[in-house]
Amino acid sequence: MHTAAQELEFETVVGLEVHVELGTRSKIFCGCSTAPGAEPNTQTCPVCLGYPGVLPVLNEQALAYAIRAALALNCEIARFSKFDRKQYFYPDLPKGYQISQYDQPLAHSGWVEIEVGGETRRIGIVRVHLEEDAGKLLHAGGVVDSGASYVDFNRCGVPLIEIVSAPDIRSPEEARAYLEKLRAIMIYTGVSEARLEMGQMRADVNISVRPVGSTAFGTRTELKNLSSFRAVMRGIEYEARRQWEVIRAGGEVVQETRHFDEERGITLSLRGKEEAHDYRYFPEPDLPPVVLTDEQIEKIRAGLPELPDARKARYVTEYGLSAYDAGLIVRDKAVADFFEESVRQYAKGPAGAKTLANWVINELQRILADRGLELGQTPLTPAHLVGMLKLIDEGTISGKIGKEVFEAMVETGQEAAAIVKERGLVQVTDEAELAAIARQVIEANPKVVEDWRKGKAAAAQFLVGQVMKATRGRANPQLAGRLVRAALAEVTGVTNE
Ligand SMILES: [Zn+2]
Repeated sequence: MHTAAQELEFETVVGLEVHVELGTRSKIFCGCSTAPGAEPNTQTCPVCLGYPGVLPVLNEQALAYAIRAALALNCEIARFSKFDRKQYFYPDLPKGYQISQYDQPLAHSGWVEIEVGGETRRIGIVRVHLEEDAGKLLHAGGVVDSGASYVDFNRCGVPLIEIVSAPDIRSPEEARAYLEKLRAIMIYTGVSEARLEMGQMRADVNISVRPVGSTAFGTRTELKNLSSFRAVMRGIEYEARRQWEVIRAGGEVVQETRHFDEERGITLSLRGKEEAHDYRYFPEPDLPPVVLTDEQIEKIRAGLPELPDARKARYVTEYGLSAYDAGLIVRDKAVADFFEESVRQYAKGPAGAKTLANWVINELQRILADRGLELGQTPLTPAHLVGMLKLIDEGTISGKIGKEVFEAMVETGQEAAAIVKERGLVQVTDEAELAAIARQVIEANPKVVEDWRKGKAAAAQFLVGQVMKATRGRANPQLAGRLVRAALAEVTGVTNE
């Protein structure tokens, strides 16, 4: 069947529901520890196990963290919100319901800005609400062929915020930028370490497609519990394409929850509790509503730290960094803190800050990415970097050797001076020594000398490169250049500029 849709370009529409575990020491409604890595079922009590007759009590720190996060997401905080019971049956939910917020959430109407391809876009935040996490199922063997499943209730009652975006996201790249921005904000505000690999941040993705130019929303499907940026991007990519193919073939997209199979890179229809979406919410009778005064909210607002966007703007005005470079530095708070402390120790103002930014972006972030490390997992300190830059400034080592020293500092945690000494990397600035090397190089390359004689100025560059090679990069490049040109002029009687 031929349909009009076959001729059209399509647009992807994505909304994200992101769960973030708050970094409180105890759970949201009881005093049990939230410390990760404990033996299964050792951090539980009658409250989080849902015994009859127990009373939950709201953890004030969890509430304060949730408000802090919501304010950082530019939300309005409700003066009155309440808890509800979301009823569903699941093996890791011993009470048979989850305490969450439904019709009156803690916060609403926020936004964050993302930048993709040089374009800044604002993504709306519909709501932020508080809820408790459920337990965890552990399957003996694979999920499909497992002979038994075990349940660990340690995670039951760990405080979560759910951040629901407006359907403002238009591509896998935007979804990634949005998630990275959320993660940075959680880390900057200190409400969560937001480690994806530990399940501290998880995303449900709502996806629909429509012809470009249409304003109506198509039927959406949901991918649940994606736990990496890569999975989110690939899931959106695949699912949008699949939906459009269904429509092009004259079919209809079915509203359903689908599972993203990371290994195969495809989505599969999931049948289960999510299909009905009828949770029979009702107000939680054991918890009083959350009533907040303006003073309480303003006090938390006043305690907000500098957030990534503000820090980026400051790097541009204070240090003269490009918005792009500043953005690369602030997206990881640990790296941004490292950069600022280096700037302070180097004490060379905006010029020094630019030099440091180049090292952080081109070397530090590259090394971390190559090795899959975070800054905190290396022994590198700002003093290391500053110590090395001083060696470059003094002419003890060249910038090129600096890169080798920098990599060694990240690996060993040794000071730059010690590495330079141990590996014999001190820059050769001895004129007589370099002049001798320049003459050897000229003798060994008669063809290049002939080019010079014919007026080819670039020939000198090649010979300087040979001097650098002969000294294993230790020659002072400016001095080597001057000596090579002088020697060429002497040998050929020709001066090229
Ligand atoms: Zn408990």
